Amino acid sequence: MSYLFLFILGLAVGSFLNVLIDRLPNEESIGGRSRCDECLTKLAWNDLIPVLSYVKLRGKCRYCKMNLSWQYPFIELFTGLVFVVVGSMSPLSLEPAYASGNISINQSLLSLHTSFLRMAAYLGIVSTAIVIFFSDLKYHIIPDSMQILLFAFSFLLVVSFGLTPQLFLDHVIGAFVVITPILFLFLITKGRGMGFGDVKLAFSMGFLLGPLGGLTALYIAFVGGAVVGICLLIAGKRGWKSKIAFGPFLIIGLITMLWWGERILEIVKGLYGV
Ligand SMILES: [Zn+2]
Repeated sequence: MSYLFLFILGLAVGSFLNVLIDRLPNEESIGGRSRCDECLTKLAWNDLIPVLSYVKLRGKCRYCKMNLSWQYPFIELFTGLVFVVVGSMSPLSLEPAYASGNISINQSLLSLHTSFLRMAAYLGIVSTAIVIFFSDLKYHIIPDSMQILLFAFSFLLVVSFGLTPQLFLDHVIGAFVVITPILFLFLITKGRGMGFGDVKLAFSMGFLLGPLGGLTALYIAFVGGAVVGICLLIAGKRGWKSKIAFGPFLIIGLITMLWWGERILEIVKGLYGV
């Protein structure tokens, strides 16, 4: 699949993710044409072309001339780039095995299907991760529909690697191992330190990454949260008691381990001599 195609697909998906980020937490319908945030004028199709409309209108609404949020082109471009990265990193190239003649056509068709399944799962995971990251950051809400989708895409990815009972059990154990510390924090802080959305997110993380990968992702999230929290405190932007959404840090941990997990786990195992 060409990178240009993936980039354009990512721009279009990103445009839809913008809609989800702002409408799902506010329980608005995701159908219906987008409106300007300021003057509420329904936007025409040529106001809705990803990135290009924003550039052409110089970041201002065509009707009321108010500034459009930079979030729109940013998410579109970001999703486009992420889609290209996914395309370049997931094991898509089937040419060598097929060309070498060692694999029958049936088998290579099967692996072609597997590759597309895997690709779809990866794209689904990063797309839902983007929505969860930004809706939690902006509104402190992780929409349940995105939690379900994230779990479904994670399930798809795990299945695409060939499912044995042992492997499946490993992922289920991962889900329960990773949910435990977050659930504990949720209960002792009475939901003020962690939201229940974080608990549900931890379940998918553990299932997707397995016990060791999931816990490492959690560790990355806690370190990231602490560093950003301290920086905000020093900068005087937040007090001790103010809430920082934890979902974005969980997402950073999840994506980091999904992409570089094997290498990171090798380093971790080396450090502890496991
Ligand atoms: Zn307007």
